Amino acid sequence: MSYSLSATKLKTYGQCPKSYQFRYEHKLPSPTIFGSTKLGNALHAALANVYKDWNYAYPLPSLDWFAVCWQQHTSELTPTQVHEGWVALQLYYERYISSLPQIRKPLGIETKVRANLQVRNIEFTLSGRYDRLDYIDDGLELIDYKTSKSVNPPPSVDIQLGFYYLILEQIYKKALKRLSLIYLRSNEKLTYEVTPDHHQQAQSLIEDMAMKLRCDQEWKPVTGQHCDRCGYQKYCPAKNTRPEPLPQEAKEVTQVQLALGL
Ligand code: SF4
Repeated sequence: MSYSLSATKLKTYGQCPKSYQFRYEHKLPSPTIFGSTKLGNALHAALANVYKDWNYAYPLPSLDWFAVCWQQHTSELTPTQVHEGWVALQLYYERYISSLPQIRKPLGIETKVRANLQVRNIEFTLSGRYDRLDYIDDGLELIDYKTSKSVNPPPSVDIQLGFYYLILEQIYKKALKRLSLIYLRSNEKLTYEVTPDHHQQAQSLIEDMAMKLRCDQEWKPVTGQHCDRCGYQKYCPAKNTRPEPLPQEAKEVTQVQLALGL
């Protein structure tokens, strides 16, 4: 059976292998705090409709088309959220649509992607999901819609870039050139260009992880500012001289199955 890996898992591993072990090997739930996701989900769904259902025989949708798509996803929102979402979509329309001569059909919208990678005789399945994928000058651009009010560049974005490079190259036979984060509620956009270092870094992390999985090596803690948000501090040997024992529900770490050589 292959070992499943996501960008989030790889980012956790890149930050601290010990917290990865707590979360994904021992399968201890991690307390995380999220705000309401209803507005975010509705905005994602409306933009998916905008691009999926548009008749590309016509050059450009009007703002009315955005309103039609938005109205399909507002039933569970409060009046304030409906207003905030519509303001965000109008800003998006003005910045990214209204000045175009023609809207281009994306290569993919809200798509799950998966690729296989064999490293040190371990079969990895890399899985991800993207909001939108566009063709640009002989390459690909990933679009990720963000619905937080503030613009916070995500930590470990380099690992995310490398991870998606590895998946998309296998599926589309094209190189990922850049990732753009579009902050819908503040009308900001952050763009990251992909360099050879990014996929090299992701590949190296996966190799490093493969070694630990194969040889049952120690998953060393790496301390830093990220420890402030870590839900496993009480079990962590780097944070306590006498860490608490793991709770009973902690799973035993199972040995991975090696792929057979040809
Ligand atoms: S407290 Fe810090 S070092 Fe310990 S597991 Fe969490 S992130 Fe890693």
